[in-house]
Amino acid sequence: MTKYISTPSRTKEILEKYGIHAKKGFGQNFLVDPIIVEKCAQAAHCEGAVIEIGPGIGSLTEQLARYSKKVVAYEIDETLPPILADTLSDYDNVEIILQDFLQADVSKKVKELKEQYGQVTVCANLPYYITSPVLFKIFDIGNDIPYITVMMQKEVGNRFVAKPNDSEYGALSVEGQYLYDVKKLFTVPGRSFNPSPKVDSVIIQFARKENCALDVNLSAFFAFVRACFKQRRKTIYNNVKEYLKDAEKTKKALDATGIDPGVRAQELTVEELKKLFEATL
Ligand code: SAM
Repeated sequence: MTKYISTPSRTKEILEKYGIHAKKGFGQNFLVDPIIVEKCAQAAHCEGAVIEIGPGIGSLTEQLARYSKKVVAYEIDETLPPILADTLSDYDNVEIILQDFLQADVSKKVKELKEQYGQVTVCANLPYYITSPVLFKIFDIGNDIPYITVMMQKEVGNRFVAKPNDSEYGALSVEGQYLYDVKKLFTVPGRSFNPSPKVDSVIIQFARKENCALDVNLSAFFAFVRACFKQRRKTIYNNVKEYLKDAEKTKKALDATGIDPGVRAQELTVEELKKLFEATL
């Protein structure tokens, strides 16, 4: 029986066979830890259709193909689809789309997949240089994606799960946690990749909140949140005043919400920041 792609020896064999050198510019670090890869796929709620960003040589794609009805994987590197056609030839439920994920019409694809397979989730070992833009693109798709299970750099993952008063708590934490229950599933050491990055990674899962109030203009709320954290050492009063360019309005909003003008944004909960945003409207 052929070994899984994610075993170090099979990955090495594939890289040698095709003369592949990981491209730093595309954030290529191939996963060579079959246990982590399988655990990631098992945790991803991928029993319907699953979207992957950056299949690489197919290590995670293979496990997703085993656990789901359909895998749609977006890959930017034009040298990889012919290789994936070989490495994933045993699976007939994988579609590779050669396209920059950030340019793709993903909403349209999600609608089609949902109609056909009932549920669509996302699972990926993200290219780290575009972790936030990829995630925000998926966040924008909304309720049609109930689970996003992604590997990212540990430092960024810690920011997504941080709570008020944690040193990593910031705009990323608030924006992610407003829409999702966010949890850290596993830590993945650098040695689980080829080539090994200097930093550790984590797998983070975003589970869409069912009762998330979407009565706010999300992009305006997120712009407000970023402004609140813009100068972390400044008080909430000063950051909001700078954002609103209006001292009186800022005082009124803080008064109406009972938030102490002297606190810093990192002391405020997601709910408090939302109330404050609404009071500024
Ligand atoms: N999934 C593979 C694995 O776990 O071994 C590879 C993960 S590697 C960290 C990131 C992958 O994303 C690479 O295959 C890279 O070429 C691809 N990639 C980088 N930027 C991309 C983009 N904008 N759209 C789609 N794929 C991208």
